[in-house]
Parts: sequence; structure tokens; C-alpha cells
Amino acid sequence: MADGSDHMRKARDGKRPNKTSKSYAGLAKDAYRLGATEAKIIDADKIVIDERVRMKCEIPRCSNYDAHLMCPPNLMPVREFRKMVRKYRKALIVQIEADYDSNDKSDSYLTGTLCEELESRLDANESEKALHRLVNKLEAIAFKKGFYLSIGLIGGECLLCPECVGPSGGEECRHPFEARPSMEAMGIDVIKTCEHAAMPIRLSSSHKVRWTGLILLG
Ligand code: SF4
Repeated sequence: MADGSDHMRKARDGKRPNKTSKSYAGLAKDAYRLGATEAKIIDADKIVIDERVRMKCEIPRCSNYDAHLMCPPNLMPVREFRKMVRKYRKALIVQIEADYDSNDKSDSYLTGTLCEELESRLDANESEKALHRLVNKLEAIAFKKGFYLSIGLIGGECLLCPECVGPSGGEECRHPFEARPSMEAMGIDVIKTCEHAAMPIRLSSSHKVRWTGLILLG
């Protein structure tokens, strides 16, 4: 915390640390050191935001919709998020490769329950959690390096608790400093954004699944 306060003070005093291409590259190296499969610094204007991505949380309705604190509609509107993103110049995009592919492993139409069953069989949650830990660590490192307005976004829903307390129970988030929403929940078109970063995501393929997260660097 001492480091963070120091950066905040320096920023207030107009002595903000220099955000050079070298310090951006250092963050990508940090990502690899911490286990990222791939990490790249991208221009923030390459992040594609589209209201239709948020709409797909609701239609067809995801089981987390209005049941999870880090999922819609419990997040800021997409238009407001877009305004915030436009204030950033750079972002760090990171991927973690899981040890399963995205071929259809079902015999029938993929219902919510079937998806959950498949996920638990594939241990999909472990890769999501690994990505969440990576994003949290990188956001903290970025903060300490002077990117004090950095914000991390994960992939998939926040899985820090076996079951989210949800918005209606009146209980506070159990890990408020670690919980983060996903890129897609904020309306980011992850597929197009990854294409812009030359990190293509292949859907329904025999390639290993990659979970993607983003740290806005400011
Ligand atoms: S930390 Fe727990 S309570 Fe908070 S958003 Fe994540 S799952 Fe929900």
C-alpha cells in the first residue's frame, strides 16, 4: 500500500512516473513470468465495444444474469464504460491456455445445465480462476509501476466464491478488492478485440481453449 500511496502522491504533485514503451513492455514480460500463455500491449482504441455483447447475457438469459454481483444488469451501462475506455491509451491483453478444446462434446442442444456439467467435467473453472489471479496480480503490478488508474477485467463470471451472494440477498461481496467483471459483461467484443491484437480466438475447434483478460493501463 505504501508504494501505491506514493504513486498517488507523485501523481498529485505532477511527478507521475513516465509511461514509456519500455514500461509497457515490462508489463507484458511480467504477464509471461506469471504464467500467461500470451500477452500483448495494445492501443486502447483497438478494444471493440458493442452493446450486442451485453445483450447476449440476457438473450438467451444466462443463469448469472441478475444473480451475480459482477454480471449484468449489476454493472455500469455499456455506453458509460465505452466513455471510460476512451480515456485510456493502452491496455495489456493476456491469455491463459486451458488443457481442453472447444469442440462440441454434447449429444444434444446445449442447455445451461449441460454447459455446467461439461465445464465441471473439463475442470474449466480452474483455467478461469487462474486467469482471474493473473489479472489481479498484473493490475497490482501496473498500479505500483505508476499506472494508478489501471482496471483489470477477467473472462467468464467471478468464481472467487462457490456461489455469489447475488444482488438480492442483502449480503456484501465477500472479496470486494479482488472481484472483477468479465470483458464480455462490460460489452467488449472479445473475439474482435483479440483479432485486432493478432491473438485469434477459435470457436468450436480442436485448438486448446484460451481464456482472455484485459488490464486497462492508465
Ligand atoms: S467475490 Fe464472491 S460475492 Fe463477490 S462477486 Fe465474486 S463470487 Fe460474488
